[in-house]
Amino acid sequence: MALPTQTHLEAARSGTPACTRRRFIRLVPMGAALWLPVAHGKPKLAAPPDPSTFAHLNERDPHAKAVGYVEDVARVDRRVYPKFTAGSTCDNCALYRVPAQAWSECTLFPRKLVAAKGWCDAYVRRSPSQPT
Ligand code: SF4
Repeated sequence: MALPTQTHLEAARSGTPACTRRRFIRLVPMGAALWLPVAHGKPKLAAPPDPSTFAHLNERDPHAKAVGYVEDVARVDRRVYPKFTAGSTCDNCALYRVPAQAWSECTLFPRKLVAAKGWCDAYVRRSPSQPT
């Protein structure tokens, strides 16, 4: 049997239970058990938005107009955008997210879909080594 420590003697004199290491070790799991339901009740992070629910980018959107976006590359005004070259379309632009799709996200227009056969003045040809 262990001899009483100074802590035990002081606790006995004051009438309060001693805060010993053994008592502390017993209380820690109980405290954790009390916090468990609270931790499970924490709100979870929202799921990322589903791109298939995004609206098509409107050509009249001020940001789209600023870069001359058109849904159909045949309507590019070559006098206004002389850097346009035949064969340049959104689906071979580095900013087009999924080239295999008719409509996809573009880095320039978050949460909007642009047409694969579209074009804008921010066009950058996709590198053949760029992952899709
Ligand atoms: Fe299309 Fe590229 Fe312009 Fe986006 S940046 S609208 S993908 S041409």
